[in-house]
Amino acid sequence: MDYFPVFFNLKGQECLVVGAGDIAARKIELLFRAGAKITVIARDIGATVASMQTSHSLTLQQTSFAPGDLRQFRLIVSATDDTETNLLVAKTAEEQGVPVNVVDNPGLSSFIFPAIVDRSPIVIAVSSGGSAPVLARLLRAKIESVIPPAYGRLAGLAEKFRDKVKQRIKIAPQRRIFWENVFQGTITEQVFFGNEQNAEKLIKLALDDYDGSANTGEVYLIGAGPGAADLLTFRALRLLQQADVVVYDRLVSTEIIDLARRDAEKIYAGKQRQNHTLPQISINHLLADLAKAGKRVARLKGGDPFIFGRGGEEIETLMAQGIHFQVVPGITAASGCASYAGIPLTHRDHAQSCVFVTGHLKNDCVNLNWTQLALPNQTVVIYMGLIGLEQICQSLIAHGSPSELPIALIQQGTTDNQKVITGTLATLPALVAKQAIKAPTIIIIGTVVSLHDKLSWFGECR
Ligand code: SAH
Repeated sequence: MDYFPVFFNLKGQECLVVGAGDIAARKIELLFRAGAKITVIARDIGATVASMQTSHSLTLQQTSFAPGDLRQFRLIVSATDDTETNLLVAKTAEEQGVPVNVVDNPGLSSFIFPAIVDRSPIVIAVSSGGSAPVLARLLRAKIESVIPPAYGRLAGLAEKFRDKVKQRIKIAPQRRIFWENVFQGTITEQVFFGNEQNAEKLIKLALDDYDGSANTGEVYLIGAGPGAADLLTFRALRLLQQADVVVYDRLVSTEIIDLARRDAEKIYAGKQRQNHTLPQISINHLLADLAKAGKRVARLKGGDPFIFGRGGEEIETLMAQGIHFQVVPGITAASGCASYAGIPLTHRDHAQSCVFVTGHLKNDCVNLNWTQLALPNQTVVIYMGLIGLEQICQSLIAHGSPSELPIALIQQGTTDNQKVITGTLATLPALVAKQAIKAPTIIIIGTVVSLHDKLSWFGECR
């Protein structure tokens, strides 16, 4: 470890910034947020720093830096573009034993500024020891993306209840478990949804009812998107990573399941055509039973749970049994596949509406409202339509669609195995029959498909 990370209490402390350009302004802003009393010494005062004078209670000294007595300062930052001045500030500070940072010059600095994620009172600092500040900033961006802004409010809530929890739960390891449950369960989710009052109520209830064993589970019905792991939402990722059990469908990629905690139990709930590993009713009850046993359950479904996903049925059971749950939308196959195939689902010159239908066969035939689907100026997206492809094309032609209407079949959209086959209602079934197609596939019908040749952007296997 090249640098020792500490958090400095600067409330009401005198700090000095030498220089008054834009970089100095950024450092002044940070010191101000930490409550410092800031003096700025600079020959020229930049517009931004000048504008901060009142709002940030700055003491501005428009003069060159001279090595007077610096002892009164707790911290010094030198942010000038003049090497001589920076050197002089560093030397003087060192002689007087005051911590100093010379911006972008770790060699002259006794401390360095980390990249900061500010969720006050939670503050996360990332440093590369000055060797790769851009990498540290990228890492910070990653952390920013997985830590919701509400973490600050959560810490505030914890602070409020800290003493009460200490009084009620005397044994430290039990206290730790209590807080772990608070921070990874319903109470925290309530804070994230902005229901702090509810969260407070629940935490009070949890304390009143505390008997050392109480814990309540919940279910997260999560849309895992069409395949590529980085098409998950931030919320999906966060909930997946806090789940004790993951119940997943066939359509969810291993790449996504691997994002769950290593120690989380993983249950495959199946769903292959004609080969339902677990009947839907058993899945509904499995989720409820796991939650009642105190588990946080991530129910991962391909695409969006509410689009041909039977998500509604699963939460109906949970609702009936009074189990906490939340639904996280995902990118549905229609929009994921269309985007990755360069086929806009609507377009002013082509389609003013778009319908999603299922082509799932019942008694060997696809029962759809063909008259409506054959209307012009719309895009029709058919989920689960591969088996019925020929029937679909024939029925549309029989109900008035032109036989040269463009149609695309997209295999495993958004993944490395994506393949797009385009043709017309008359030609596509034969084109598809010639190829080895792997599920899942989706069908897009309409003149928007003609844009694929021009707009295709995602490298795919051929
Ligand atoms: N809830 C899912 C749909 C489940 S139904 C969603 O919102 O996307 C399953 C059907 O979705 C598959 O038969 C196929 O038609 C489609 N599908 C899902 N992922 C797909 C993908 N990556 N590429 C092509 N089709 C996909």
